[in-house]
Order: sequence, then C-alpha cells, then structure tokens
Amino acid sequence: MKNILGVFNGKFQDLDKIKVSPLSRAYTFSDSVYEVIPFYNNKIIAFEKHINRLSNSCDALNIKSNISLCSDEILHLISTSKLKNGYVYYQISRGVDALRSHIYDTSLEVETFGYIVDYQFESKDLKVSLCEDIRWQRCDIKSTSLLGNVMSMNQSKNNHCDEVIMHKDGELTEGGASNVFFVIEGNIYTPSLSSNILPGITRELLISESNKNGIYIEEGKYSVNDLLQAESIWLTSSTKCLGQVIEIIGYETKIELNNEVFQKCNKIFKNAFLSGQLNNNII
Ligand code: PMP
Repeated sequence: MKNILGVFNGKFQDLDKIKVSPLSRAYTFSDSVYEVIPFYNNKIIAFEKHINRLSNSCDALNIKSNISLCSDEILHLISTSKLKNGYVYYQISRGVDALRSHIYDTSLEVETFGYIVDYQFESKDLKVSLCEDIRWQRCDIKSTSLLGNVMSMNQSKNNHCDEVIMHKDGELTEGGASNVFFVIEGNIYTPSLSSNILPGITRELLISESNKNGIYIEEGKYSVNDLLQAESIWLTSSTKCLGQVIEIIGYETKIELNNEVFQKCNKIFKNAFLSGQLNNNII
C-alpha cells in the first residue's frame, strides 16, 4: 500500500498511514456509498455524472455529505498525482457511532475516504456465468453493501469466469459489477433502469453516444431466454468500458465474436472516450 495517495476525512496521506475506527458504520454495517471515477489522459470521464450519482446515493440513505468538498478532494487526488490514466475510489460513510446500533444518531459526522489507482483502460473479452440475483431490492443505490455481488462473482470466478450476469426469476438485471447489453437480429437491447439495477454511467454514455451516431438502443424487460438468442452480448462499466462476452458457461449461445454491431458501438464509445469528448472537467 506504500505510496498510494489517499485522503481520509480531508487529510491527504499515504494509504498505509490511514487509521479507521472499528466503530465506523462503514465497517459495522456497510453504511456507506461510493464512486469509481475514471480519468484518461488527465481528463476525468463524466465527472458531473459521477458526482451527481454520489449525491443521489447519499440522499437515498440520508447521509448528510458536503458533496462539493468531496468533489474537490477527488480533483485534488488526480491533479497532485503524476498519473495520466486511472481512477479514484471515493467513499462516504455515515460516520463513527459511539455504540454499534442499527438506529443511527442523526448528528454523526460523515467519514470520507478516497484513493487513487493507476489503471490502464482496455476492453477485455469476458467469459461469464448466469445466476439468480440474490441481492437486496435497492441496487440503484451505489452502496458498499455488495455481499450479493461478491458471493456471485466469486462463485463465477471459481468456474473460471470473469463476470456474472444476474436475473431475478429469469428477468435480466445486470452484471456483478457492470450493466448488460445484447444484440438480436441487429437490434440492441439493455434492461431498463429499476431499483434492481445500478444506473451505470458507462451505460448512459453509451446510449447517448450511440444515439448521436444514429444507433438506437432499446430499454425494456428482457429474459435469460432473450439473452441466449443474442448474436452479441457485452458488459459496460467505468473500468471495463465495453467488454464483449465470448462465452456463457453451461449454455449454447449464438454469440458471434467481433459482431459488427458490437464493433460499431465499441468504436463510438472508444472514440468519445479517447478524444476527451466525455470529459466535462479538464484538470
Ligand atoms: N452495475 C454494478 C452492480 C456495478 O458495480 C457497476 C460498476 N460500478 C456498474 C453497473 C457500471 O457502472 P458504471 O458504468 O457507472 O461504472
């Protein structure tokens, strides 16, 4: 952990110097929210959207944060680092309780924590498994309560997969740490937003950038059976960008590698990403 720059409650220091109270509610209850904010070529990708989502997550859990201070800290981490490409992990927790209690004291001081990671963005081909979505019913909140995702993704890893695609009673929700898109007969589909899905920023950017280029993506309710008819499937996230699915283990699929529609969308997204078009904050 040496030399990884972090910030804890406003103090910038190396990660290994940061000390956290065992009574932090982030520790006892996962009573915290987070963001992963990518930057490429010294430009932050969709900064405002990440900050808005962080603010919405705090509002949903009634965590009283000073979002503009948090956003300054994120900018400071990036501008003081020598990194060109990477991401900032930033977390806001309700704070430290005098006693562990489900009922929180509304006067707690929020606890903030962030650090910066050197990261090279590249689209990887993904082998996935399918599983029942065992998570809670507010997956639209980007909270650190991710045990459902952790369990399913590790089960998937034990089956030599890179990701998992989840469904609730056969209805597709999302990936373990990503949103899902698929193509049938040239048309692109993605599950519409609901309380069971994180409103992914890469998802939103891909939909709008594709639209600008005359490619329409339909949002709706889709089943595992629909997915299995797809000629192309890909997952999106701030760190994966667009990752094409090459196999769903245990299922026969109609997946064509490097499908034309996937390649078009990937090119549109990459161009926007690399050119700095998705950036709304130049450091
Ligand atoms: N869904 C889940 C469950 C995730 O963890 C992520 C990644 N944070 C996403 C979707 C994709 O979101 P984004 O594009 O904003 O990274």
